[in-house]
Amino acid sequence: MTAYGIIFGLGVLMVAVTALDLPALGSANDPPRDFVAVPDADSPPGPVVPPEGEGESAASVESIEPEMAAVPTAVSSGSLGPDFEPDVEERRVTVRRGDTLMKVLRRAGAERGEAHASITAIGTVLDPRRLKIGQKLTVSFRRPASADGTSGKIGELVSVTVEIDSERSVTASRTESGFDVRETVRPLDSTLVRGEGRIDDSLFVSARRAGVPARVVMDIIHMFSWDVDFQREIRRGDRFDILFERFRDDDGRPVKDGDILFASLSLSGADLQLYRFVADGVVDYYDPKGRSARKALMKTPVDGARLSSRYGKRRHPILGYTTMHRGVDFAAPRGTSVMAAGDGVVERAGRYGAYGNYVRIRHNGTYKTVYAHLKSYARGVRSGKRVRQGQTIGYVGSTGRSTGPHLHYEVHRDGRQVNPLRLKLPTGRKLKGRDLARFLDHKTTIDVALAETPTLPRLARAGAGEE
Ligand SMILES: [Zn+2]
Repeated sequence: MTAYGIIFGLGVLMVAVTALDLPALGSANDPPRDFVAVPDADSPPGPVVPPEGEGESAASVESIEPEMAAVPTAVSSGSLGPDFEPDVEERRVTVRRGDTLMKVLRRAGAERGEAHASITAIGTVLDPRRLKIGQKLTVSFRRPASADGTSGKIGELVSVTVEIDSERSVTASRTESGFDVRETVRPLDSTLVRGEGRIDDSLFVSARRAGVPARVVMDIIHMFSWDVDFQREIRRGDRFDILFERFRDDDGRPVKDGDILFASLSLSGADLQLYRFVADGVVDYYDPKGRSARKALMKTPVDGARLSSRYGKRRHPILGYTTMHRGVDFAAPRGTSVMAAGDGVVERAGRYGAYGNYVRIRHNGTYKTVYAHLKSYARGVRSGKRVRQGQTIGYVGSTGRSTGPHLHYEVHRDGRQVNPLRLKLPTGRKLKGRDLARFLDHKTTIDVALAETPTLPRLARAGAGEE
C-alpha cells in the first residue's frame, strides 16, 4: 500500500467516524439504532463510568463521554440526580528533570505499592527508565465512595497512561488481580498543506517565509540535488510549490509533518516537478514521465555546503603556486555528514598523504568518487563495504593538506578526474508497464489535490516557527 492509500484510507475512516458522530450530536427524538443505545439498555442504573479497560484509548473515551453521558442522564435522571459526577479523578502530570516513573506517580498522589504494581505492568511493554522531560502522563484514581466532598483524599489507583508520542500511548489499568497493560495507537488526522511562492533570496529563506517548515525545505533541497546546483542555478524570481502532509490531533492542532507528496521548482522558465511514489516497496521521487530523480551520482554529496573551490587551474592556498585542482571543494562546518554520491563499494578508507582521511568508492566499471580531508569515517565504512547512495560515509574535517574544514570531492571516469559539476549524469530508474500506469494515475490524484489545497499564509518574518 502506498502512503497515498494510507492517507486516503484515513480520510475515508474519518468520514466514517464523522458520520457516526452526527446522529449522537443530533436531536434526542431520533436516536441512532445501535450506537449510543447499548450502554443505556444493558448497564444497570448507576453512575456512568468511562469504559476503562475495554480497548478504548483515553482520548477516545474523552471524546465519546459527553455524548454518551447525555443520553443516560436524560433517560434515567431520577436515579442519578443533577449533581452526578463520574467517580474517577484524572490527574495530568508532566515528567521533570531527574524523574523516575515512581516519582511521577507519587507526585500525582499514588500510593507506593500501587505505583509499583502499575510500573511493573508498564515495564512489560516500555522501558520505564526511558522517560523524557516534558512527557505527559494521565493518572486516574477512584474517588472515595462517600461523596460528601469533605476531604481532598483520593482512592485507589485506577489507571496510568504514559504518552509515548502524539500517536501512541501505553496504559496500565487496574484489574481484579493487578494491572493489565495495553498500547494504544491513535491515528492522527492527516491533512495536506501547500507552500508556494517566489524565490527572492535563497530557496530556504523564501520557502520558510511561505510557511514551509525547515525540515521540509531541507528534504526538498535533497530531492532536487540530483538536478539542481543550488549554488548557481537559483535566480531571483524563480518559483517553488510544495505539497506535504501535516498531522493534527483531535483538537485540530498540528502535531507533526509527514511526507512531501509533490514539489516543483520553476528555474529560469524550466519546470522541474517531482512526485513521491512507491514502486516495489521503495519510496522515490519521479518526474512527470516516471523517471526517478535519483541519478547515478550526486553533484553535491554534502548537505548545506558552499562551493568554495571549483575544478581547474588555481593558485594553491598552501603551496602558493598555480596547480590544477582536480576536484571541487565544499566548505561546511566540521562534522557535517558526507554522503556516498552513489551506490558502490568502498575501495579505500584510510589516511592517504595530503588528502588526509580519505574514502574512495567504486560505483561501476566507469565511475569512482573520492572524499578527502575527512574528520573521521562513519561507522562500518572500510574497504570492501557496500554503501548506498546518500548513506553517510564520513564527516567534514581538515585532515591532510588543508586550510580549514571542507570536503574535497573528486569524480573519476575511467581512471581520470573529471569536473563533477559538468558531469552528464546517467538517469536513474524509469517506471514501465503497470508501475508507470499506476504512477500516472497517482500523479493525476496529486495534481487534483494540489489544485484544491489552499496555500499557507505567509509568515511575517522568515525563520519564525509555525507552532
Ligand atoms: Zn580540493
